[in-house]
Amino acid sequence: MRITDIKATTVTVPLEAPLLHSNGAHWGRFVRTIVEVETDEGIVGLGEMGGGGASAEEAFRGLKEYLVGHNPFELEALRFKICNPTASLYNNRTQLMAAIEFACLDIMGKKLGVPVYDILGGKLRDEVPFASYLFFRLENEKTGDGEVRTVHQLVRHAADLKRKYGFTTHKLKGGVFRPEYELECYRALADAFPNDRLRYDPNAALSVEDAIRFGKAIEGLKNDYLEDPTWGLNGNRRVKEMVRTPLATNTVVINFEQLATNILNPSIDVILLDTTFWGGIRSCVKAAGVCETFQYSIGVHSSGELGIQLATMLHLGAVLPNFTFAADAHYHQLTDDLIKGGKMEYNEGAIKVPTGPGLGVELDREKLREYSELYRELGGYPYDRDPSRPEWFPLIPNDRWAKTPEASSAESAKERVTL
Ligand SMILES: [Mg+2]
Repeated sequence: MRITDIKATTVTVPLEAPLLHSNGAHWGRFVRTIVEVETDEGIVGLGEMGGGGASAEEAFRGLKEYLVGHNPFELEALRFKICNPTASLYNNRTQLMAAIEFACLDIMGKKLGVPVYDILGGKLRDEVPFASYLFFRLENEKTGDGEVRTVHQLVRHAADLKRKYGFTTHKLKGGVFRPEYELECYRALADAFPNDRLRYDPNAALSVEDAIRFGKAIEGLKNDYLEDPTWGLNGNRRVKEMVRTPLATNTVVINFEQLATNILNPSIDVILLDTTFWGGIRSCVKAAGVCETFQYSIGVHSSGELGIQLATMLHLGAVLPNFTFAADAHYHQLTDDLIKGGKMEYNEGAIKVPTGPGLGVELDREKLREYSELYRELGGYPYDRDPSRPEWFPLIPNDRWAKTPEASSAESAKERVTL
């Protein structure tokens, strides 16, 4: 079998509301690139990458000369063609490689009539549990709904998600407001859901000292881990020396070199594997094997996903023995998907691993057309800007926090009474 062509289509799919993070915001929609790898046997494989636009589509088209004529089963050879580590100093194609690897695994599964998890060693679980992934949100521009800023709004949002999807782990994406206020929010979640587990991720925005203060203040709560409380392996090592809660990262251990460094001189306890950041599902499986050897737990990270990327996360989660924490997904924040059958469903906080051949998802062509048109209409957005604070940009460590909502304390007290 040979690859004959590659197509890349940028789409944008609306979110319920704009999502705030430490560097800026997702401006009410995700922009993604949908990749289709074609073969001489008529089998088409699907891939997905974050971001998009003319330059991303051009980058995929630019790989045609590497791909056309290549056997999609020969993924190790493809890795060295596209991601040779020394050539990558000039041309880092890790995320492009990931999308192409997803498509090749999809082709392999379709050719063999087996799901991707069978190619990866077979599934250990039928479904993957997810965390609620709570964001501070701006209101939806059209409806005026969806704002999450106060403690009351946050706890109510978490309660809504728990009721709708059955989450029993709550992740607070912070790094937006001053740490004292986010601590108040985190404690309110612990009060509201005493039987559930919690995790906090300020996207590395805190100073080492603020991170230590935060970490010490939440000891005794049902924490999974503190995720990227501060920037860098050295910063996190200093936090780890002072805080008893495990630390996790999706920012400073995202390749094998960093993984080796972290094992030789530990900073991080839980490695959050991202099928895009690591260059594919197979790289994540390899990294999880290293982690298993040294008894590090792993999680499955979300860098924003539509159904194709979500399928890669589900197949990954299905095959890893040391996957001991609920995965993250932005998926429930989306209003739609472009796979056939619509959005995948949560049941008691988990999503079933697709069992069809390959990734087990199919493109809905009408939705692809609709959301690529929407992209052409709306264009991209700067991930590192916040539309509600046009002049603002953060420092690392940050001290330029968003204005704390004034109603928080009174509403918080009321919330404790009424829940
Ligand atoms: Mg994170």
